[in-house]
Amino acid sequence: MKLKEAIEKYVEYFEQRNTSKTVNFWWIKEHPELLDLDIYEITDEIIKKIVDKYGEAAKLNFKKCVVFARDNYTCVYCKRSLVQYPNLELHLDHKLPKSRYGGDKLSNLVCSCGFCNRAKSVRTAEEFLEELKQVALSVVKAYRLEIL
Ligand SMILES: [Zn+2]
Repeated sequence: MKLKEAIEKYVEYFEQRNTSKTVNFWWIKEHPELLDLDIYEITDEIIKKIVDKYGEAAKLNFKKCVVFARDNYTCVYCKRSLVQYPNLELHLDHKLPKSRYGGDKLSNLVCSCGFCNRAKSVRTAEEFLEELKQVALSVVKAYRLEIL
């Protein structure tokens, strides 16, 4: 997906949820060369350059726009997607939490639904996925005991 489409999709997602607010990628008008880049070509260095020039206000929406598009507006943990659940609340999740010195690089950021993001809390992505697996296994075991 090109950045141009990713921005359009993010603006649509944002405006459906925040009816009183609008999101504006004002800085993109001065950087039309970025619009045709694939989102996989958007690097931490490009984001840093934009943030250094236009300030922190550009940062969060730029990162969300890129990460949500990369992860296809799907929670990486429970796999619920915006296509299946149009009202799904999506967050940027740090795979390695900030409180455990996880950074803000794109490689440490994933798209997570609000439920998983809150439930994961200070766990790492691996710890949380292992916990989800154990919960799923116990449900399967309980179900099997019930039907046997
Ligand atoms: Zn989820």
